Amino acid sequence: MTPSQDLENLLIDRAGLGAIRAKVDQGLRLSFEDGVLLYEHPNLMAVGALANRLRTRMHGKKTYFNINLHLDYTNICIYSCKFCAFAAKPGEDRAYLMSPEDIYERILPLRDSEVSEVHMVAGIHPEMGYEYYLDIIRAAKRAKPDIHVKAFTMVEIDHLLKISGKSEDQVFEDLREAGLGSCPGGGAEVLTTRIHKAVFRDKISPEEWLACARKVQEHGFKMNATMLYGHVERVKERVEHLVRLRELQDECGGFMTFIPLAFWPYNTALENYGKVTTGWNDLRQVAVSRLMLDNFPNIKAYWVMMTPKVAQTAQAFGANDLDGTVTEERITHDAGTSAPMELPKTELVHLIQAAGFEPVLRDTTYQNFETVKS
Ligand code: SF4
Repeated sequence: MTPSQDLENLLIDRAGLGAIRAKVDQGLRLSFEDGVLLYEHPNLMAVGALANRLRTRMHGKKTYFNINLHLDYTNICIYSCKFCAFAAKPGEDRAYLMSPEDIYERILPLRDSEVSEVHMVAGIHPEMGYEYYLDIIRAAKRAKPDIHVKAFTMVEIDHLLKISGKSEDQVFEDLREAGLGSCPGGGAEVLTTRIHKAVFRDKISPEEWLACARKVQEHGFKMNATMLYGHVERVKERVEHLVRLRELQDECGGFMTFIPLAFWPYNTALENYGKVTTGWNDLRQVAVSRLMLDNFPNIKAYWVMMTPKVAQTAQAFGANDLDGTVTEERITHDAGTSAPMELPKTELVHLIQAAGFEPVLRDTTYQNFETVKS
């Protein structure tokens, strides 16, 4: 043990986290009560040191990122989640819908670029049929055959299964044939009944989200998972969310990355609730996620919601991924995030290196890597 590790152990143990440190050092699973303690513990630096220890064991100093594009193909949505500033009803001035041709035209100029992924999520449109969803995937692949299409949250997949008129097996086969590569992790919000009833009651329930994620993984697709935090949820509900994801990962093993999503209240029905995410809250969330989700390979600091500077700092609190360049994100920008519309590759590399970490360019499913030197 090095002198600096000795000092770190002293810091953690004096903070009263010695029992959790022992579990982390032995690779043992943390309990629900451990999760609550980590969220409520006054010494964030000690919690962060524990998370960084686990992150270092899993990934060393590597921080992953990719070059990606977000296409939120429609903001028209039949639902009215209280935390959402993005959705519009048909006929509203700000309502829009991208056609497959629009998707094609947007991606075509990127054909010879370094962009390796398009992330497509949107509202649940009242009228678009099953074929539309296949067509937008096909349009992306036609424009740039080597692009990885990461599309459709469990809310959208559940909707597709309902409107398709086909068997579950056939729907996943159709998606695969169209070119779907993997699924993002949105729509989970906070996986508890109380939060579902309080802020997204007309959307799929926590049980339905988990069941849909199970189907996606059983049909061979990798996916991510998220949690929207910083609104009306309580500490125990955050822990419950993490434990439910951990259990599903034990069962299916298809989650690649956990992404804590910091809530931005502007232009939402919760705007007057008075809470805007803080760096302190964000770093805590990243650290506890790393420690509780021992079976998730990656924890992402999503700079669009945390801001680039907090995401950079989160690398020392358990995060080993900074997402990507994220050109054209609309959902969080509609809710008032102060983050820019995109980060160039050079800026991401700078953020990673300036914090003493090693930038590694990855593909969506963490199969191919390229160390970036400058
Ligand atoms: S969060 Fe998604 S499902 Fe809910 S209102 Fe917004 S776009 Fe619709």
